[in-house]
Amino acid sequence: ARRNVLITGCSSGIGLALAVKMARDEQKRFKVFATMRNLAKRAPLEEAAGARLGKTLEIKQLDVCDEESIRTCVNSIPDRRIDVLVSNAGMGLIGPIECQSIEEMKTVMDTNFFGLVRLLKEILPDMKKRKSGHIVIISSVMGIQGILFNDVYAASKFAVEGFCESLAIQALKFKLNPYKLHHKSLIEPGPVVTEFERKVFEDGMKMDLSAADKETAEMFTNIYLKNYKQIFQSLGQSAEDVAEHTVKIILAENPPFRHQTNTLYTPMTTLKYADPNGDLPIDIFYKMVFHHDKVFSASLNFIKLLRWRSRKSFDLGKPSQ
Ligand code: NAD
Repeated sequence: ARRNVLITGCSSGIGLALAVKMARDEQKRFKVFATMRNLAKRAPLEEAAGARLGKTLEIKQLDVCDEESIRTCVNSIPDRRIDVLVSNAGMGLIGPIECQSIEEMKTVMDTNFFGLVRLLKEILPDMKKRKSGHIVIISSVMGIQGILFNDVYAASKFAVEGFCESLAIQALKFKLNPYKLHHKSLIEPGPVVTEFERKVFEDGMKMDLSAADKETAEMFTNIYLKNYKQIFQSLGQSAEDVAEHTVKIILAENPPFRHQTNTLYTPMTTLKYADPNGDLPIDIFYKMVFHHDKVFSASLNFIKLLRWRSRKSFDLGKPSQ
C-alpha cells in the first residue's frame, strides 16, 4: 500500500527536495503531504512537483510553532494516517551570545526542538495505536558536536537528539514499526547549501556586534564569517543529496537510529567518541580555528581530496517494500 508521508518545512531546501523526490518515486510508493508555514511561498514547490501535484503530492499549511495548525493539518489527512513523519523545519542562528536576545534564542529552540515535540504529541499516539510508523528527523552533525558561534543552534539540535534517544527506547518496546527495528531515524547532515546557509550568513553579516568585546567581534567577523563560505563550498552537500540519503533511510529494511549524510564530516564527529573526557574535539577545533590557518586550509584540501574519492559511496543494504 502507498505510504502517507508528512514533511515539514517544504517551501525550500531539504524539505522541498525530499517532497519532490518522494512524489516522483517511479513505483509510486508514497503519498506526500508537503507542508509549509506560509502557503504564499508554495510556487517553487509547485513548479518542482509539476505533474505530481494533486496526485502523489499535496501541499498543506503547517507551522511547527502552532499546535492548532498541526492538529488541523493532521485532521485533514484521511484517517489521520501518517506512516512516515519527516520533521525537517528548522532555523539557524550564529554569532556571539552577547549580541543575541533571549527572544531570538527562544525562537530557535521553539522551532527546532519544541516544533518536533509538538509534532510528536499530535502524531505519536496514533502511531502507537496502529503499532506502525517511522519518524525521521533532520537533525545535524551539530546535534553531536558544538561548533564555534553556533551555541544556541547546537543546543537546539542536542535537545532533539537527547529527546529522540529517550523516546526510541519506549518505541522499541511498542514495536511501532513492523518492518523496521527502529521507528526513529536521526539524519545528521553536515553543511548543506540551502536558504538556511544564505539566511544565516546574511544575518551574521548584518549583526550588531556592539555588545561584544573587540576580540570576540573580530573573531566572529575575521575568522568565522571569513571562512564560512569556504566551509560550505568545500564540505557542503546539496539538498538533493540529503534527500537521497533520507529516502534510502526510509526504504531501508533496518534503518540505523543515526545516519550522517556527509562522510567527509565523520572524522570530526568521531573525535567526540574517541575521548570520554571531551577535550580532544575541543582542542582540535581550537587549533584548526585559531592556531593554524595553514592546518585549516590543509584540512580543507584533504577534505576536497576525500570528497573526490568517496563520492556517494554509501550503502544501506537492500531496501524494503
Ligand atoms: P531551509 O531554510 O531551506 O529550510 C528550512 C525550512 O523550515 C524553511 O522552508 C522554513 O520556512 C521552514 N520553517 C522555519 N520555521 C518554521 C515553522 N515554524 N513552521 C514550519 N516551517 C518552518 O534550510 P534547510 O537547510 O533545508 O533546513 C532543513 C533542516 O535541515 C533544518 O532542520 C536544519 O536545521 C537542518 N540542517 C541544515 C543544514 C544546512 O547546512 N543547511 C545542516 C544540517 C542540518
